[in-house]
Amino acid sequence: MPEMQRQTTESTEPTDPQPFRTREPEIAIVVALGYVWAAFNTLIGLLLAVVFYRARGFRWSDGCLEAVGGSFQRDGKTVTRIWGRPGAQTWGWFIVYRTEAHVAKAPLRVHERVHVAQGMVGGPLFLLAYGLHFLIEFAWTARFRPSRWYDAYRRVWAERMAYRIEDEFRRGLRPNAWGANPRYFLGN
Ligand SMILES: [Zn+2]
Repeated sequence: MPEMQRQTTESTEPTDPQPFRTREPEIAIVVALGYVWAAFNTLIGLLLAVVFYRARGFRWSDGCLEAVGGSFQRDGKTVTRIWGRPGAQTWGWFIVYRTEAHVAKAPLRVHERVHVAQGMVGGPLFLLAYGLHFLIEFAWTARFRPSRWYDAYRRVWAERMAYRIEDEFRRGLRPNAWGANPRYFLGN
């Protein structure tokens, strides 16, 4: 993409510092604490992914553990197992993608890593804050709408932030957003 090339020639300083690759010791300690703080959320996601999504292809990529959810055949169609069938789902610093094709989508990777950062700040409280806001939106704001579940989901504060940053990335405003340039350390 032309925007990305221009960015690298103009400046070596990323517009969005990628936290897990910092050289500042103080920031490295805060990031390390973030991984610990979000470990509970990660564990819940791993249990979900292994038991219900039959996830496979576990790998470490761009500071996160990633996997792909399983699928099965029904009436000649492929049905993916991930609940709600989003492109991906984030739990702590674990991201489970719906299919292998979704892993390569840079805007989706950026979106999910916004949730990773949110989880590192909020820890278990992030799940509470997300869940409570979703329930309130589901019960009240979206109660007269037909696409009730989806509308509530899009109104949750964490999603508004993630979709805003994803949109800015799509428009070339955040070429170095976390997850924008995939790097794999395991797997492919
Ligand atoms: Zn999201």
